Amino acid sequence: VVQLDGLVKRFGDVEVLRGIDLQVARGEVVCVIGPSGSGKSTLLRCVNLLEQPSGGRVVVRGTDVTDPDCDIDAVRRHVGMVFQAFNLFPHLTVLENCTVAQRKVAKVGKEQAQQRAQHHLGRVGLGDRGDAYPAQLSGGQQQRVAIARALSMEPDLMLFDEPTSALDPELVGDVLEVMRGLADEGMTMLVVTHEMAFARQVADRVVFMDGGVVVEEGPPSQVVDAPREARTRDFLDRVL
Ligand code: ATP
Ligand code: MG
Repeated sequence: VVQLDGLVKRFGDVEVLRGIDLQVARGEVVCVIGPSGSGKSTLLRCVNLLEQPSGGRVVVRGTDVTDPDCDIDAVRRHVGMVFQAFNLFPHLTVLENCTVAQRKVAKVGKEQAQQRAQHHLGRVGLGDRGDAYPAQLSGGQQQRVAIARALSMEPDLMLFDEPTSALDPELVGDVLEVMRGLADEGMTMLVVTHEMAFARQVADRVVFMDGGVVVEEGPPSQVVDAPREARTRDFLDRVL
């Protein structure tokens, strides 16, 4: 579903991604870990072209999104993204937050949009909060709305950038539980996270990045539990 070949991203003179090769197959859950500033968010943002790559190739669902002629909006419609900050519309209800993109971007009819939204809100445990406004919800509930909103577009790839790192510790579990459920249902997921327990239990593959390169990747039993590279070990010693 995702293939990165030699992805390079520069901001001015600074090379933030220095030739990343990475594949995510259908149904696979890949967790990206690494120190602050290593380029994790930039990598994720290059997948749906929130950042324009400086070099290399990014192929999403068979479309080379680095080709200037590609229809990036068509690709983005199938890619859900959930950020650290939930970015819900404060003046819209929970249900409206989950229908607005469907209506405007995917041109889904009102009733169908509401049905889908309701379905996905149920899935994240908020089926009864559709009439609430974001400010009336906890951070964890808001993040689950953000997930339901992304799911309402019926994506076949979900990108998560540290979805739990802005949450109070007691709210993290519910969000991870929702993500685990999605993984169990076979959703293709690329997840930047500091939650090592989640990576260990849910990821098919863990990618450790440092300094804009992939230092090590493999199943969590290798990368998290028995890292080969000194840089991976140093990082894990600090976070575990
Ligand atoms: P964190 O764990 O703190 O979120 P990260 O691994 O996600 O870190 P990135 O946000 O991808 O790291 O940033 C990688 C590097 O790129 C950093 O040095 C950052 O300062 C730089 N950078 C990111 N975005 C921009 C930008 N728009 N302009 C200039 N530099 C940027
Ligand atoms: Mg980041």
